[in-house]
Amino acid sequence: MYLDIRKQVIETGINMINSNMTVGTWGNISARIPGENYMAITPSGVDYKEIQPNDIVIMDFEGNIIDGNKKPSIEFPMHSIIYKNRNDINAIVHTHSQYVTAFALARKPIPAAAEDMVQIVGGDVRVNEYFLPGSSELGEAVVKALEGRMAAVLANHGCLAAGRNLKEALKTAQIVEKSAKEVIFANILGGVVELPKEDVDYMRDFYLNSYSKAFSKNK
Ligand code: 13P
Ligand code: ZN
Repeated sequence: MYLDIRKQVIETGINMINSNMTVGTWGNISARIPGENYMAITPSGVDYKEIQPNDIVIMDFEGNIIDGNKKPSIEFPMHSIIYKNRNDINAIVHTHSQYVTAFALARKPIPAAAEDMVQIVGGDVRVNEYFLPGSSELGEAVVKALEGRMAAVLANHGCLAAGRNLKEALKTAQIVEKSAKEVIFANILGGVVELPKEDVDYMRDFYLNSYSKAFSKNK
């Protein structure tokens, strides 16, 4: 049952850990199941390299478990609320990566400065109002911070990265982490020059509609 998507979630978790985006069992990953109001989400507190396909929990967006051997991630309310509010998001990678978490502890947004970040995120990465992990309030606050964006800084916690699919959601997490580090260094060098909104919008449109697409004489 849902073997393919379960394997994709497992593979994303292994890639997340192998690229130093999180340490231990923290963070969590989910994917929307196409055509159904379900998601596949990682189990709570299980080592990413030990997760088996049946440990990935299939749930609806109201908190009901459809299938799975283990307890779902405590953050299932946050994942559900994001899918309910954002049709453009099909996958979520939540990490505790270090440089984004530095912004999370300072409760400062990551400015819209690096070109790769604005392409994949759509602008600066805002910080949500703080709520405890696992709460629905956290989910609601993250939806607000995510408006028009594909990532948010989770106050005193970590990073929320989204994508049209799992590969893209992990890439979002990695690019936001890279940008967070770059911004810290740029501040040591004297400060960050932010990009104007029109350039950010142009690059976001380019990323969505031209980048990685097949050759066309018109583009
Ligand atoms: P889970 O192991 O339950 O997913 O919790 C980890 C976490 O990062 C909570 O925010
Ligand atoms: Zn977390």
